[in-house]
Amino acid sequence: MLSYEEALDHLLAAAQPVEESKPVPLSVARGRILAADVVANVTVPPLDNSAMDGYAVRCVDCAQAGVALPVAQRIPAGSVGHALAAGTAARIFTGAPVPAGADAVVMQEFCEHGADGQVIVNQVPKSGQNIRRAGEDIMAGAVVLQAGTRIGAAEIGLAASIGIAQLPVRRHLRVALLSTGDELTEPGNPLPPGGIYNSNRHFLGAMFEGYGCAVTDAGHVPDTLDATRQALRDAAAAHDLIVTSGGVSVGEEDHVKPAVEAEGALSLWKIAIKPGKPLAFGKVGSRGTAFIGLPGNPVSCFVTFLLFLRPYVLKRMGVATALPVARQLVSASDWSKPEDRRSFLRARIAPDGRVELYPNQSSGVLTSCAWADGLVDVAANRTFKAGDPVRYLAFADLL
Ligand code: AMP
Ligand code: MG
Repeated sequence: MLSYEEALDHLLAAAQPVEESKPVPLSVARGRILAADVVANVTVPPLDNSAMDGYAVRCVDCAQAGVALPVAQRIPAGSVGHALAAGTAARIFTGAPVPAGADAVVMQEFCEHGADGQVIVNQVPKSGQNIRRAGEDIMAGAVVLQAGTRIGAAEIGLAASIGIAQLPVRRHLRVALLSTGDELTEPGNPLPPGGIYNSNRHFLGAMFEGYGCAVTDAGHVPDTLDATRQALRDAAAAHDLIVTSGGVSVGEEDHVKPAVEAEGALSLWKIAIKPGKPLAFGKVGSRGTAFIGLPGNPVSCFVTFLLFLRPYVLKRMGVATALPVARQLVSASDWSKPEDRRSFLRARIAPDGRVELYPNQSSGVLTSCAWADGLVDVAANRTFKAGDPVRYLAFADLL
C-alpha cells in the first residue's frame, strides 16, 4: 500500500499543466487561471491625494491652533488644483490630488468658517497627515498578480485598478466523465429493484464545474468491453482527462479496467487511507490522455476527489499552489475505535469553534458529506477525545 503522500507525489509528478492561453475580458475571468504575471504600468494612486474632506495647508502656516487662512482654491476629486501659495488653504475632498506645496490635510471637523471666506484651523497639523501617497498601493513596474493565480473577485478588482481590461488565462481543462455499473439509475427515473441512483456522476460534474473545467458528461457506458473501449477512445480524442468512479476495485469483474489496459495503460494503487482505498491511474489513446478511476462508494469518491483529484486537477489547470491547507483545532467528539489506516472523518466546526464528528462514518453514508464542512485527518491506530487537538481540512479550502 502507498501512503497518501506517496500516491499524491506520483499523481502530481504526472500532472502537466495545459499550455495554451488567451486574453479574456475581466467580466469572464473569474475562476480562470492566470497564465502570466500581471505587471502594473501605472502607479496607484497616481498622485498624492487627500484621505479626508477638509483643508490642505502648509504646516508652517499652522504653528498654533486657531489660525485663519484665506481659502484660495477648491479641489474636488477628479480635478487638479494649482500650487498652494504660502499663507493660504485649499478646500479639498477625499481622493482629490493634494496641491503642490501643501504638506497636510486638516479634517473639516477641526475647521470652521471665519470672516471673509477664511477658514479657521483649530488643529496643529503634523506633516503628511491625511495624505495618501502616490504609489502607496502599487508602483509602476511591480508584479501585482502572479502566473498560476486562481482569479477571484479581488484579483479582478486589482487588475481593473491598474487599467487592465483583459487577463491572460490558461485554457479550460477538458474533462470527460464516464459512468459504469449496471446497478445505477439516473435521478428522475423510478428505481428498479436492486438499483441505486447514480450520485457520483452528478457530484463529479458539479466539482469539475466548480473548478472551472470544461466538463463533458460522456454518459453511462453500456456494459460490454467493446462499448467501454469505444467510449474511452472517443473521450481520449478531445479531452485532457477521463474520470470514472467505481469498478476498479482489485479483482472486480468490470470492463473499465481491461478496457483502459487495452487502450493504454493502467496502474491500480492501493492507498492506506480510509475511506477510499483504491485509485486507478492510467493513460488512454495515442495522445496519452490521463485516466483516473475513483472508488465507487460515494463517500470514498468524495474524499478521494478532495485529497487527490483536486491537487492534480488544479496543477493541470496551471494553478501554482494546490496542496490542501490544514488547521489545528480542538475536537468536540471522541474517536475511540482506532482504524488501521489513516482516516479522513467527516466533521464540522461547531458554534464554539471545536470540531464535531458526524456520528456515522461509514463510506456508504453520503449524508455525512453534506452535513460536514471539512475532514479530520487522523493517523492510523490513533484515538482522540473531546478536548484533544485534531488536524482539520476545511471544505472551504478544498471546493
Ligand atoms: P465499486 O467500486 O464499483 O465496487 O462500487 C462500490 C459501491 O459504490 C457499490 O455499492 C456501488 O453500487 C456504489 N457505486 C458505484 N458507482 C456509483 C455511482 N456512480 N453512484 C452511486 N454509487 C455508486
Ligand atoms: Mg461497481
